[in-house]
Amino acid sequence: MSWTDLAKNGRILIVDDAMENIQILHQALRDEHEVLFALSGEKALDIALQQTPDLMLLDAVMPGMDGYAVCAALRAAPALRDIPVIFVTALSQPEDETRALEAGAVDFISKPFNVAVVRARVRTQLTVKRQADAMRELTLTDALTGVSNRRSFNDTLDAEWRRCARIGMPLSLLMIDIDHFKLYNDSYGHQAGDLCLQQVAGAMKRCASRPQDMLARYGGEEFILLLPQEGLDGAEVIARRIIDEVRKCAIAHASSPTAPRVSVSIGIASVTPGEYSDASALIRTADGLLYRAKQTGRDRYCMSAED
Ligand code: GH3
Ligand code: MG
Ligand code: MG
Repeated sequence: MSWTDLAKNGRILIVDDAMENIQILHQALRDEHEVLFALSGEKALDIALQQTPDLMLLDAVMPGMDGYAVCAALRAAPALRDIPVIFVTALSQPEDETRALEAGAVDFISKPFNVAVVRARVRTQLTVKRQADAMRELTLTDALTGVSNRRSFNDTLDAEWRRCARIGMPLSLLMIDIDHFKLYNDSYGHQAGDLCLQQVAGAMKRCASRPQDMLARYGGEEFILLLPQEGLDGAEVIARRIIDEVRKCAIAHASSPTAPRVSVSIGIASVTPGEYSDASALIRTADGLLYRAKQTGRDRYCMSAED
């Protein structure tokens, strides 16, 4: 099996202070999975942050940070919270097992272990993890357009607001609304309207491709593009690109008073998050500027001055 195939079957981090235990588990799992290892709890957290494993096999008793402490640290870190943990330990009393499960472990394997059992339990937990990931993805995505949904946007806005405040960087936001979309539905039907929404979303996605950029469906035919670490000038470039890209789609809209094709209007707001401001003001500003873009002719953008 190639390295990429192994990665598809899940990346497992084995944590144990005894090298011989790591070797046995590695041998049991390496044919089916990508295997990483750490000889201490501290090192395990470092590796988990950098390599985002899909599952952790964790020794309970280790010098320094023990398995329970590692588990608690994982649960406290948003980026690591969803990594499932199987405890692997020589402790075999019911209290030990209970304590592991209470610390947040999804399963418990006693040493000396049976390799086939370890393999089977690992496979089961990886399947559960994959399903949970798929479910999470579904709850964060708009079903029609495939872009983020409003709830996911709200969470990200909060997080990015705080992050940009911390690092002293600006945060920009584009509020984008399709022009005369009610007329489009009236002329071409609701199904064509849905298709149009998908095409416009696709066009907008092509305009902002940095990993931290987020395009979300905010309401019916209204979208929002969040641009962390981007100032007003950069946001303006992207707004212009979106208007062009939607024009290039050349989706016929015969009844539109603005143009014979589908167009969008955009409000742009940008701010460096400070101690006394909050994200809702940024949305209000973008919304007001979108309204102005509509009032002054549509198929255009309006923007605020940077503070
Ligand atoms: P404006 O240029 O001022 O934005 O006019 P508009 O017609 O685009 O705005 P309005 O808010 O009056 O109408 C929005 C329309 O979008 C009405 C609604 O039926 C349609 N719409 C909202 N969600 C969907 C959807 O999921 N699919 C389709 N096909 N239409 C939708
Ligand atoms: Mg509209
Ligand atoms: Mg609207």
